Amino acid sequence: MAERGDDANTEVSPTDQARLTLSGAALVANWRMLAGLSGSAQTGAAVKADGYGLGAREVVQRLYDAGCRDFFVAQPAEALAIADLVPPNSIAVLNGLVAADVPDLRAAGARPVINSITQAQIWHAAGGGLCDLMIDTGMARLGIAPEEVAAPEVAALDIDIVMSHLASADEDSAQNACQLMAFREATAAVKARRRSLANSAGITLGKDYHFDLTRPGLSLYGGVPVAALADVIQPVAALSARVAQVRDIASGTAVGYGATFVAPQAMRTATLTLGYADGYRRAFAGTGVARWRGGAMPVLGRVSMDLIIVDASAADGIAEGDYADIDYDLAETERISGISQYELLTGLGHRLSRRWVG
Ligand SMILES: *Cc1c(COP(=O)(O)O)cnc(C)c1O
Repeated sequence: MAERGDDANTEVSPTDQARLTLSGAALVANWRMLAGLSGSAQTGAAVKADGYGLGAREVVQRLYDAGCRDFFVAQPAEALAIADLVPPNSIAVLNGLVAADVPDLRAAGARPVINSITQAQIWHAAGGGLCDLMIDTGMARLGIAPEEVAAPEVAALDIDIVMSHLASADEDSAQNACQLMAFREATAAVKARRRSLANSAGITLGKDYHFDLTRPGLSLYGGVPVAALADVIQPVAALSARVAQVRDIASGTAVGYGATFVAPQAMRTATLTLGYADGYRRAFAGTGVARWRGGAMPVLGRVSMDLIIVDASAADGIAEGDYADIDYDLAETERISGISQYELLTGLGHRLSRRWVG
């Protein structure tokens, strides 16, 4: 296993144009909180999509140190990218496999999550070994049907985790209890070391949903999918951008592409180095807010690829080279924009400097 910090990226640099400041302490506190809420079940971590956009390697190092032993990714390449940080058999690959994936899975010491009879056959043909099994209990996305658990290809698998995934855990929906019942029934005869059903929101549905292992993702990273987590989950990522220019504009001046905003009076604006190529979506035109020393600076006009223009009329003393904070509270931004917290995180661009503190 690689030493912690071999790719640490913690220095805040004055050359950062837009940066994500990431709190390792908050990440770990969220994992511990979710582990506490999971009762006697073990608690893993979904780190797919590069740790929901925050950086899978930095996330895995911190959660492994905190005691997390099970990591879930979507693709074999994602398993390879973290494999040196954890012991063999710590990573499950949710999207299943084709035969061509087997070398990467072996190289990563990762288990495929078998989602179909065909995948079970591929795994047997490749020599098999420990794997996981997904059962579709009502989402029609991935997994074998409950009645397929008795198939000989499935019975012959060496299964660590048998799992299913909740489609509506973040809603007060009768579907949750239906899936729970279907999961219990389908797994009753499955030989597996562990059973797992709950994602972040599923953890809050109570101990019936915890089984042997829970698999939170979103809430590790500060997401709040249900009210029950609102007061216990801490924000992990903070977004800021540098001031590229400050200008005083006259009443009637058009601002940004398409001249969608025209200054109703003389005002001061600041141009910030953050745009939709960084994941700061065009949907934030009209709703986005930057802050300088706490004071609000609403986004004016359209979001550009690399820049936004904000109303700095109240930001006394703001100057080129300063950094402005960008409002990006996940639950609140979802509420305002209609963009899901999952997209708000995973859409954060590669160009952002990711700076871990703690
Ligand atoms: C992404 C995912 C999770 C984590 O879900 P969150 O809602 O982010 O907590 C758990 N299990 C499976 C199968 C997933 O695909």
